[in-house]
Amino acid sequence: MKGPRTGSKVTYVTLAGNEEANAAYDVAVAAVRASLGGTHPNWIDGRASHAATTFDDLSPTDPSLLVGRFPRSGPDTVASAMAGARRAFPEWSARPYAERVAILRDAAGRISDRMSELAALMSLEVGKNRLEAMGDAEEAADLLRYYCRQIEDAGGFEQPLDSLLPGEDTRSVLRPYGVFAVVAPFNFPLALAAGMAGGALVAGNTVVFKPSSDAPLTGLRLYEILTAAGVPPGVFQFVTGSGRDLGDAFLDERFDGIVFTGSKEVGMDLHRRFAKDWPKPVIVEMGGKNPAIVTRHADLQKAAEGIARSAFGFGGQKCSACSRALIAREVYDAFLERLVAVSSKLVLGDPTARATYLGPVISAKAKATHAAALAEARRDGRIVFEGTLPDDPALARGHFVPPVVADDLPDGHRLWREELFVPFLAVGKVASLGEAVARANASEYGLTAGIFSEDDAEVRSFFDGIEAGVVYANRRTGATTGAWPGVQSFCGWKGSGSTGKGGCGPWYVQQFLREQSRTIVR
Ligand code: NAD
Repeated sequence: MKGPRTGSKVTYVTLAGNEEANAAYDVAVAAVRASLGGTHPNWIDGRASHAATTFDDLSPTDPSLLVGRFPRSGPDTVASAMAGARRAFPEWSARPYAERVAILRDAAGRISDRMSELAALMSLEVGKNRLEAMGDAEEAADLLRYYCRQIEDAGGFEQPLDSLLPGEDTRSVLRPYGVFAVVAPFNFPLALAAGMAGGALVAGNTVVFKPSSDAPLTGLRLYEILTAAGVPPGVFQFVTGSGRDLGDAFLDERFDGIVFTGSKEVGMDLHRRFAKDWPKPVIVEMGGKNPAIVTRHADLQKAAEGIARSAFGFGGQKCSACSRALIAREVYDAFLERLVAVSSKLVLGDPTARATYLGPVISAKAKATHAAALAEARRDGRIVFEGTLPDDPALARGHFVPPVVADDLPDGHRLWREELFVPFLAVGKVASLGEAVARANASEYGLTAGIFSEDDAEVRSFFDGIEAGVVYANRRTGATTGAWPGVQSFCGWKGSGSTGKGGCGPWYVQQFLREQSRTIVR
């Protein structure tokens, strides 16, 4: 890849003061809200395909708001989507890569052009605040652009190899596998869907895409944008539904590869059961229990801001959310005081409102997860901070939960180990950096991690010892969150990912390709 590029755009940290973006978003919220409630089909081979039954996609801010009604697809639908994608593969894969790049770049431009509308939709459909929602849309566009650059910079992944005999000419060529299943999570409903699909498509594969059942309308917008940009019928099939039956249909259909982002439970199940006939690429990106360490050499204000932001941004529903903080005992009380002060200022409420930092969590199930964690923390530890629920009656039915900081939980407690995916932060005291790193590593996950220390030797030692794929030092804007395409590659170690290569990073597109060496004797 060529060197880093920078520019001014709405990322996850830079909305403040952008009046134009805020005004456009406000207009878009009204327009998108007025357009919700339709019944939508699957899209297979460029044609609408309705199912016998549907499910309701409801807004987490107000579950009486119907975002849309979508097909509850079964195995037959997956089979016909797969068959069509297989038929479309020869033509799509045979195109010069520059043609696929041109189409996906066009799609990226369309996403950027429609950023306000897409962000407004994500706020209404999954409860992201405006900054997070705009960041998601812009990240989706940048992921497509970055993966296009990747294949261009690599010259289409074709290069000469050595020869042993005169007249022998050998080249290594990376070639697409065939049809990929793309299964996306609710929490970055545009960015991760576009990123996974973009990697597969630019490499020349065709795709059967299943959005999260909590975010199918955002997924449908991606389908429409790719189609408008010139992705031909059959190359990107759109299928909705939920549950184990549909999951099993994806396993039964003999896809050539699968790319999934979601929970460890589902990802590991796919990883174990996907390859039936022979080994196949199973790219699963999963959860995290991401730690931040604060040493006695830390700037405590920076640490408090970075940790609160990472723990409570989008209600703790980022795979990169900070859910554990390990604090040097010398600075423990001073740090907690600052953390509580920062957390108390975060506004919980309607995600479309300008002042809101956290909206609702995604579902009643997530709300119950939060309630159980809070009760356990009260029983087995101490609640250091509990935020205030919004008192607006219009939000009474929403899945709102307060941000919580708990300490005094015994080492090894469930709340130290399990990914909860709600705004809940466990905090504990450590005697040394060594102990902090050992406790941080005592996790089945290894996604992101952060340290706050003004001592370079401590930071180096943390980077060398921590078992995580995305590590940060002294990040006020997010102790463990906020990766960006081409800036931080996003590789899950251990139970957080299967391939040792990250989305957003320079080795992503290769994962959708297999090598062929071609020798000609002249
Ligand atoms: P999830 O595992 O519940 O669902 C993910 C997708 O899988 C959805 O489309 C869902 O409908 C589908 N699915 C559910 N059961 C299935 C089955 N049995 N077979 C096949 N597909 C099935 O995850 P989620 O709640 O949507 O997303 C949150 C999770 O995603 C968290 O664990 C988070 O850490 C993780 N995540 C990881 C990354 C990363 O890059 N590592 C990024 C974002 C989210």
